Amino acid sequence: MNVHIDSLRTRLSAPFFAGWGSIQDRPLVLVRVEDFDGHVGLGEAAPLPGYHGVGGDDVLEALEACRTMLARASPGPATAHALAEWRRLAVMPAVAAVDMAICDLESRRLGQPVWRRLGAGAAEPLEVNYTIAASDRASAAAEASAARTAGFGCVKVKVGIGDDAGRLAAVRAVLGPDVAIRLDANGAWSVDEAVASLRSLAPVGIELCEEPVRGLEQTRQVATAVPEVALALDETASAAGALEERVCQAVCLKVAGCGGITGVLDGARRARSAGYEVYLASTLDGPLGIAAALHAAAALQPDRPCGLATLGLFADREDPLPPRAGRIEIPSGPGLGDGLGGWYRPELV
Ligand SMILES: [Mg+2]
Repeated sequence: MNVHIDSLRTRLSAPFFAGWGSIQDRPLVLVRVEDFDGHVGLGEAAPLPGYHGVGGDDVLEALEACRTMLARASPGPATAHALAEWRRLAVMPAVAAVDMAICDLESRRLGQPVWRRLGAGAAEPLEVNYTIAASDRASAAAEASAARTAGFGCVKVKVGIGDDAGRLAAVRAVLGPDVAIRLDANGAWSVDEAVASLRSLAPVGIELCEEPVRGLEQTRQVATAVPEVALALDETASAAGALEERVCQAVCLKVAGCGGITGVLDGARRARSAGYEVYLASTLDGPLGIAAALHAAAALQPDRPCGLATLGLFADREDPLPPRAGRIEIPSGPGLGDGLGGWYRPELV
């Protein structure tokens, strides 16, 4: 099997602010696998160093090791075993890219969409949230207005980045009472800060707060102290044992963080066994990562709106999977869907 690795520098149309910092340049890695019969599959690595703790160089090194291994291998159990060993290196965005590409290839070989191969009964549009990453009240209010007009039922606001109360009040004033507001602190708070902040913000009406603090024990302490606000693990979901013991209400899983479609489905199964609700989100993925999450979602049926409406944040590229009335359709066609490669390289349409 041949593996082609292609680094891209994409850009967001405005800086994206989160508890781990802000970014505007968005490096992505496109992975193209081709089997011995000429079938092709595409995947994407979307490392976010402040989120995954894994940088672009780590991902490229891991992908190069995989490329060398698969180029030498012949099809069969030995290759599958070598790939399984490589996955254990746990450079998750790289594992995700290869997993995605192989899922795409194998489904294309069968002429089926990935969701059908995963056992989903139908490809229904998936409910998603709008993400507001502005750091000032006026911009946040303008984004909230856009989200309301577009028909979103859930809006996510980054917190722990300054003026949280002011921005949230402005957003709620624009949204009215019927649109859910989700918070995401990206682990920026200490336990004491999280407890104080959530108690003071709760009257605004909070659907849930993602990653108020880093760490399982810390999350458990906040959940116990502020039972009126539901919490979700996000970054902490990758901590050892995180999906085996319930410390709060929900878990947010990501294709890039879990090691692809296979990893997301496994993570969701384990999290639900422990009693968590599950939903999916992107790490500012390109359309292949978003499509992979949509296919996985069709199979696992998330319990809450998913954070996958992020392709509109990119500059100079049209969103090939635009949300309509707060939902995104699974792309049509075999594999992950038709026409996604052209977003990365026009010649790949
Ligand atoms: Mg998050």
